[in-house]
Amino acid sequence: MSGLYIHIPFCRKICAYCDFYRAAYSPDLAKKYPAALYDDAVDFFQTFPSAPRLFDSVYIGGGTPTVLPEGMLADALGMLKTLVTIEEGAEVSCEGNPESFTDKKAKELKDIGVNRMSLGVQSLSDKTLAVLGRIHDAKEAADAVKRAASFGFDVSADIMLGVPYQTEEDVKLFVKTMRDAGAEHLSAYMLTVSEGTALFDMVKRGEFTPDDDRTADLYAAFHLTAEELGYERYEVSNWAIPGRECRHNLKYWTGEDYVGLGAGAYSKVGCRRFHTVPDTRAYISRKRERITDEVMTYAELAKEKVVFGLRTRFGVTAAALADAGIDVKELMKRAGKYFTFDGNSLRIKEEYLIVSDGIVVDYIL
Ligand code: SF4
Repeated sequence: MSGLYIHIPFCRKICAYCDFYRAAYSPDLAKKYPAALYDDAVDFFQTFPSAPRLFDSVYIGGGTPTVLPEGMLADALGMLKTLVTIEEGAEVSCEGNPESFTDKKAKELKDIGVNRMSLGVQSLSDKTLAVLGRIHDAKEAADAVKRAASFGFDVSADIMLGVPYQTEEDVKLFVKTMRDAGAEHLSAYMLTVSEGTALFDMVKRGEFTPDDDRTADLYAAFHLTAEELGYERYEVSNWAIPGRECRHNLKYWTGEDYVGLGAGAYSKVGCRRFHTVPDTRAYISRKRERITDEVMTYAELAKEKVVFGLRTRFGVTAAALADAGIDVKELMKRAGKYFTFDGNSLRIKEEYLIVSDGIVVDYIL
């Protein structure tokens, strides 16, 4: 089954580390965005008639979808539902930031069928949050997670690892606080400092020095605490109480198709991967452009399935390995230190998941 991704690019304030596609919130642009999404979808299904229209997962990501004024997400979803079918029982996730996830917003999202909230907490240290340019504090973040749980959403909380002032104690406190607040899912992303961000300038000025070894220690502390509290790591950066894995994100790692709508959104349909140019003004004025990133052969698709599957604790099946032309016996001879193979599935050993990208480059690609 396939997934539908809807990108809402607007943010109230641009965070110091952010290199996602996002745009400063403007009421005028936001007002026009739902109709532009509909127009995008009409064009999408005309251009790619074989693209899926039946979805068992929807992911409204950003940016910050919760900054949209009341009624706009309802308008957008309402119009899109005239073109696509969202299965009964589908997972419908929405990203949000604590300061804009109010009671009123929670109720609105619940009413339009959202059943999973992914909240950008990032840290529970006010000092770290301030330097990252976040506009919430630790208390607001914990309250937002509690609010989401009390409204009956499945809740996920994000943290960044390797950020300024962060200690192992901070990371452990994050996991415990989120567990107590009702988060069944956690995502932990290791900081990358990208050119063009405020954090990059801080590094250049010598005000902060990223440290990969320290980040690896923070990751280990996070993982151990999460496991102690009942979460299972199911992908390099994702942990869930069993059964609460994000069905939508799993599609990215299992090679399923996804339709991406919105400025800067990515799609995969069959062998083709493409994205819409990340320019909100052009998008709204219907000067949208789609760029093809890759057209893969069947063999390349099969290889990609292995590469992404190895990021997960489910690994890849013997059949998928055979499709990709990988001789598992020979692989185990060369690199058995890093993999387990039980006759049916190949997996990267738990302790090496953090360096899975390097292992895949060395032994699979
Ligand atoms: S809220 Fe998210 S998308 Fe927006 S600027 Fe911050 S990190 Fe980027």
